[in-house]
Amino acid sequence: MPRYDFRCRSCGATFELRRTMAQANDPAVCPEGHPDTVKLLSTVAVTGAAGAGAAPQAPSGGGCCGGGCCG
Ligand SMILES: [Zn+2]
Repeated sequence: MPRYDFRCRSCGATFELRRTMAQANDPAVCPEGHPDTVKLLSTVAVTGAAGAGAAPQAPSGGGCCGGGCCG
């Protein structure tokens, strides 16, 4: 099951949920109970500005769809 990262706009907390793709766009509630959250892009944790093309394991064309998680 894919993981989705969310960020709470009320307290700034980030949290991760595992849900089906059908639920990917459903509203998520912050662990602190705040309903005002936004979904972040994928599960890739980007700390700082990584150089483009420098990722050693960068998939060439949709890495997710090779593992069966895309149906
Ligand atoms: Zn919150």
